Amino acid sequence: MSQPQAATVVTHGGRPHGTRVTVNPPVARTSTVVFDSMATLKEALAERAHHERGLLYGRKGSSTGDALEDVLTALEGGDRTRLFGSGLAAISCTLLACVRPGDHVLVIDSCYDPVRRLCAQYLAPMGVSVDFFRPDLSDFADKIRPETRLVWAECPGTLLYEMCDLPALVAIARQHDNITVAVDNTWGSSLLYHPLALGADISVVAGTKYLVGHSDVMLGAVITREPAASHRIADMADLLGHSVSPDDAYLALRGVRTLTVRMEQHQANALKVAQWLQQQPIIRTVFHPALADDPGHALWQRDCKGANGLVSIEFDPAVSELQTHAFVEALQWFGIGHSWGGYESLALPMHCRLYTSEAADDI
Ligand SMILES: *Cc1c(COP(=O)(O)O)cnc(C)c1O
Repeated sequence: MSQPQAATVVTHGGRPHGTRVTVNPPVARTSTVVFDSMATLKEALAERAHHERGLLYGRKGSSTGDALEDVLTALEGGDRTRLFGSGLAAISCTLLACVRPGDHVLVIDSCYDPVRRLCAQYLAPMGVSVDFFRPDLSDFADKIRPETRLVWAECPGTLLYEMCDLPALVAIARQHDNITVAVDNTWGSSLLYHPLALGADISVVAGTKYLVGHSDVMLGAVITREPAASHRIADMADLLGHSVSPDDAYLALRGVRTLTVRMEQHQANALKVAQWLQQQPIIRTVFHPALADDPGHALWQRDCKGANGLVSIEFDPAVSELQTHAFVEALQWFGIGHSWGGYESLALPMHCRLYTSEAADDI
């Protein structure tokens, strides 16, 4: 059978099977699981020891969470998905699963800002050295060291949506032994961009954004391509005690059911707004990879299945910081707030410098 389309996966994935079943998976709220015999308990423990699923204890996963994981695994073409209580928890657990003291990590300059802080305030004191590379890969090969164990990419990048040629990055990384390539795929949210198909080992998604889609749940997911990476992530998540409530998994799964139609509308709306913004004299640059003159447009066309609702603008230098604040406050239908991916529109003044190589020199 051919691979089902994404719209089919989000409609049919994670649904109960049987001769007479509920349409949706039940919300399996429980802290623990009871067994009818020692033999059954032993069987469950043996399954877990072999990294098979199977109910054992609330923290280790629920059938509701499994249903959501199955949909994300199918969307990204992975081996396994592990859920987390936030996108950042998924990121930190991935970093911890992939590096040891003495290792070296290469992080893309356009990364989500808290990743920088995690590197500076946690990995560095732990004896893991970190360098940053440019999304255009101009300095990437030169920065790889014998002890490089992890490359952390994000594509398109945070805030300016810089594209990175992921297949080219992977080709360079594969010339060395033991480098894991992980990608923050929150922009693509398992639908618009498929890092695993482009050669990466791990895709990390902040489900809080478009997967959930309604600004009512915090969630993260790590999708892995090979069983070895899946086991590493699952073991570290178990060690650190990560777990997701079945209620949150259920809400996220309900959001995912409409992911494809929401994204089409977000994309259409954003492109219209972005094109209008480009016509405004006080605006110097509009960042959105679906715009024909965006520097990443060709790579976006090659590697992405569409765009989302994110648009960034850079004002003319004559516009003061206070004026940008007044602009944001004057918007009638936009709230002022962090995050994105919900049904509502948000706007926030930011300093782009935080997301460039200059900021990398600060740590
Ligand atoms: C929001 C975000 C995260 C973190 O997700 P949380 O659920 O807020 O912890 C990670 N990466 C990117 C690119 C994000 O935008």
